[in-house]
Amino acid sequence: MDCGEEGDMKIQLKEYLVRSERFLASVRDLASIGATAGGGVHRLALSPDDIRARKQMVEWMEEAGLTVSVDDMGNLYGLRPGRNPGPPILFGSHVDTVPFGGRFDGAYGVLAGLEVMRVLHEHGVETEHPLGLAIFTNEEGARFQPAMMGSSVAVGKWPVEEAYAVRDQEGIAFGDALQASGFLGERRNRISRPLCYVELHIEQGPVLEAAGKTIGIVQGIVAQSWHEVVLEGEANHAGTTPPSRRRDPLVAAARWIAYVHEMAESSEGALLVTCGRIAAEPGAVNVIPRKVAFTVDLRSADEVRLRKAEEQMFAWGDDLCRRAGVEKAVRRLHWAPYTPFASGIRELIRESCLRRGYTFLEMPSGAGHDAQHLAGVCETGMIFVPSREGKSHCEEEFSADGDLVKGAQVLLDTVLGLDRTR
Ligand SMILES: [Zn+2]
Repeated sequence: MDCGEEGDMKIQLKEYLVRSERFLASVRDLASIGATAGGGVHRLALSPDDIRARKQMVEWMEEAGLTVSVDDMGNLYGLRPGRNPGPPILFGSHVDTVPFGGRFDGAYGVLAGLEVMRVLHEHGVETEHPLGLAIFTNEEGARFQPAMMGSSVAVGKWPVEEAYAVRDQEGIAFGDALQASGFLGERRNRISRPLCYVELHIEQGPVLEAAGKTIGIVQGIVAQSWHEVVLEGEANHAGTTPPSRRRDPLVAAARWIAYVHEMAESSEGALLVTCGRIAAEPGAVNVIPRKVAFTVDLRSADEVRLRKAEEQMFAWGDDLCRRAGVEKAVRRLHWAPYTPFASGIRELIRESCLRRGYTFLEMPSGAGHDAQHLAGVCETGMIFVPSREGKSHCEEEFSADGDLVKGAQVLLDTVLGLDRTR
């Protein structure tokens, strides 16, 4: 690169700045749709409030000069042409929330993306590549499972017919809810192969705050392993069955759960474990349970280590069940490999931080995001900003205005950097 280009780059990065008041006002405005008394947002996918939020986004995107299109999953794209045709540089997130969730999870990345588009629009900037702001449907998976439904279908990982057939707790099919929402679009509008994808998101954990850093450069999304373990023994009388005659699956489950937590504790943070669901049958005070089912969620940024942890857990579990005289059945609920993010995008994020004087930290994401589906089809990266006390998926979710603005600026710089170099 010669000096002239270097000089131009500096001018360009200085020239385009996000307008913090406008951006923060939009964050507040969108958070008023589905606002809860506790200061959060309750906006389940394709609920009336999600539909209102989508309509608001369409209005804002059109005001920013974008052409809005909708695909057959209800994913919204606000598109801006470039000097050259071809696939767009895509950025965005989601506007649905978990029940009584926060104001920033998802909405932040979408509104920062909108601010990027507004800045380019008001300066009349013509980029090399087309740009697209994406709003993916049902990222949270709170109403319809699985999570990240819109992005997985958009990139061709999951058949749309299966998504349509998924029902919520009231028995409403996703396909019917989508049709009724008015956001059922055309399959040909899917952006299945963008040039690249960048997602800005709140961290949802305590790492950045604890480290005193502003920007998280996300290295990748941790590998996840979910299992359901069902242990079966023998129901019997609580008062008349001596310990030597018991085949108690709940005691075995308790030992199993304690064991995997000890594995995680001795891993020095390399392995996370959660047993989030457990049920015993018949579930009476004075009956030794016949059957116990529980779940194990294991995560690690080291996929090999995660596989080994699974093996270790099952080998130990086999032995435990033999000793306890209980039968074991294991079902894998979910497996996601480690998703690394592109080094080229991480470098652009880093470059923006250095130029702007923002502190940063390279870190993995322990949570899943739409970006992990996009990473399978294009160069992908993620940017984090700090979450106060690491709280998310709750009404207390909070990120400081200054951090929100800095994250949006890094997104703008990164998008322009990609446009210049790709
Ligand atoms: Zn999210």
